[in-house]
Amino acid sequence: MKPHGPIPPGFAADVSGMLLIGGDRAETLADVAGDTPLFVYDSAMLAARAAEWRAAMPAEVQLHYAMKANPYAPLLAFMAGLVDGFDVASGGELKAALASGMAAAAISFAGPGKRDRELEAAIIAGATLNLESAGEAERALSIADHLGLTPRLAVRVNPDFDLKGSGMKMGGGAKPFGVDAADVPTLVRRLLDAGADWRGFHIFAGSQALDAGAIADTQAQTVALAARLANEIGRAPPLVNLGGGMGVPYFPGDTAVDATAVGQALGETLGARDPILTDSRFAMELGRWLVAEAGVYLTRVVDRKTSHGETFLVTDGGLHHQLAASGNFGTVIRRNYPIAVANAFDREPAETVSVVGCLCTPLDRLGDQVALPRADVGDLIAIFQAGAYGASASPATFLGQGPAREMLV
Ligand SMILES: *Cc1c(COP(=O)(O)O)cnc(C)c1O
Repeated sequence: MKPHGPIPPGFAADVSGMLLIGGDRAETLADVAGDTPLFVYDSAMLAARAAEWRAAMPAEVQLHYAMKANPYAPLLAFMAGLVDGFDVASGGELKAALASGMAAAAISFAGPGKRDRELEAAIIAGATLNLESAGEAERALSIADHLGLTPRLAVRVNPDFDLKGSGMKMGGGAKPFGVDAADVPTLVRRLLDAGADWRGFHIFAGSQALDAGAIADTQAQTVALAARLANEIGRAPPLVNLGGGMGVPYFPGDTAVDATAVGQALGETLGARDPILTDSRFAMELGRWLVAEAGVYLTRVVDRKTSHGETFLVTDGGLHHQLAASGNFGTVIRRNYPIAVANAFDREPAETVSVVGCLCTPLDRLGDQVALPRADVGDLIAIFQAGAYGASASPATFLGQGPAREMLV
């Protein structure tokens, strides 16, 4: 038997033992959707998460949603009412963000390799471009010049440090992201000389960290770096986007980030900030921390078989929807995501089984030798922490399978 990750708090069963999501029975949701596999996102959990963040953080810090975590249109429209801004990373995401109802001025567009038409779309819309290089800055200035518009430009800084303990390092050393800190003052002066509306700094050091202390240290370094750059430039950044980094517990032994501790430390950091940043605004951009727990992936058992004494539950889902849960999205060692039998959610484990997907590859494993209540053909398996990097971050067309259904409840 191998352990699985912790089931997020807030999920319960009805009297029959059926998992409830947003107060609805999982089986009913599958009926309403018309078929499995299915992602269900619980809007009440999304709202609670945003409220938890605001209660923990200093009031002067804005909350941005990094929409690559989950771009499902109904979820985006809901998030637009919960957060202060969206961070997008492609022209397609920019379009979706604008369609969600989020104000263009509250959208920032980061990401390497922005094409001219993407820069143009952002400048026309009035979104902020987080510039990733001096070359991109020149292209943006020249496009704005042709359009006769004043572009809103921020500079993404590649910091000289990374986020300790983060699952994905996005700063420190040679990186395709951002402009090396040493080169930032020259670039910002160039933007100011060209008459651009300089919006400030975007400094993102890493992702998926669970240690509040490490996040707080990184934020303190980020604020200090912003102050140092501002002093060199001789101008205060209107906004300092501190990045995010707050992760969620996916695996056995993982524990949730202490958001209150992060907020307290950030309050102290901002309280003691360099005077040049007195009038600057601050933001954090979060993806998975806001949306992962609110999502459940439901997949149905289509076969139950044994091979060399091992029991397999073969489902109608798989890595084409849940690449991360299969262990093939940025993890070195495969570990089990939180998993349950949705229609026996209140029952104790009775056997050790492996839950696999329907793809003809040994990579397609959703639960490896996990202890679960007995499940048979027709039963529903739930994979948790499915609200981020699920549907849109998995190869849905692999083996001709097609996308999963999605619904916001
Ligand atoms: C991916 C990304 C995020 C979101 O990361 P999470 O781990 O989902 O919070 C935030 N900012 C930038 C620049 C990103 O690339």
